[in-house]
Amino acid sequence: MGPGAISRRSFATATLGLLAGCGGPRIELGDMRRRGEPITWRRAAVESELGLGPLDEIAPDDRWAFGADGFEPMPVAAPGDWLWSQSEDPQSVGAFLLSQPNRPEPPRTTICLVALGELDEVVPSMDVLREYLERFFHLAVEVLAPLQIPRAQLDPREHDGRSQLCARPILDELEQRLPAHAYCMLAVTREDLYPGPGWNYVFGQARLHARVGVQSLLRYDPAFEGVTDAPGGVALRRGLAVVSHEVGHMFGISHCVHHLCVMNGINSLRELDRSPMHLCRVCLRKLQRIVPGLDLAERYRGLRALYLRHALLGEAAWVQARLAARTG
Ligand SMILES: [Zn+2]
Ligand SMILES: [Zn+2]
Repeated sequence: MGPGAISRRSFATATLGLLAGCGGPRIELGDMRRRGEPITWRRAAVESELGLGPLDEIAPDDRWAFGADGFEPMPVAAPGDWLWSQSEDPQSVGAFLLSQPNRPEPPRTTICLVALGELDEVVPSMDVLREYLERFFHLAVEVLAPLQIPRAQLDPREHDGRSQLCARPILDELEQRLPAHAYCMLAVTREDLYPGPGWNYVFGQARLHARVGVQSLLRYDPAFEGVTDAPGGVALRRGLAVVSHEVGHMFGISHCVHHLCVMNGINSLRELDRSPMHLCRVCLRKLQRIVPGLDLAERYRGLRALYLRHALLGEAAWVQARLAARTG
């Protein structure tokens, strides 16, 4: 599937769904943020510093993780890119905290993953997703029993010769079934999804205040276009990235405009493949502020081991460089 096959309306719908409840006080950047204005390196640098806030508020032992080195600025937006057509207000760490994000506090301390439909062949597997999210967010992750919902309840339809389910009744069901110990619950599926009548499809949708979301992995898999993927290949990388992005939204983290970052808004597979799998320093700081006892070096070591095991060598090298920055 080329970028041209991706419906902008689908992305817009997903984002509106994701950002509902995410809005917090906005920082003012004068006329720097106008719809369609390309991101410049200078502007990205300014927003990065504004977003992170004063460095002296960060514990001296942790400052190595928040230096600018190693975090790429946003490239100039080109036609077709998310920031070419979408106006995203930067979410600073301060604005994030003022938005009163859901905090992982007892009893709500577990990220719950649940399969919807057949997932035997899906890449990444639920086991890999569980382990990845655990290392990425530093919270317990539990794979629940697969959702058993009569298909007829999910407004199934045929569209462009493809069978699809509606995301809305799936989210309704998840809200009903949210366990008491769940920080959030994400359904993962290989079903194709649509958000409602009049729309072609949607990749994923979430309700932030309700702490539920659903993510389809179908269209990220090169097999969708009939291309065979190698182990450790693009389907694995994309799947881990989009699921961590989705869960990141449930932590209250908005789309990132500060650096190339896994929380960047994405308008095409090209943009997805360009984005890294890691959180930039601004988004990492947000995570650190709400996850109790987050040990940044331990987090990176855990991610490095997993990346190496799955031949995600570029990400492993990036993490290694961050850890090297710690020891100087
Ligand atoms: Zn998003
Ligand atoms: Zn970021």
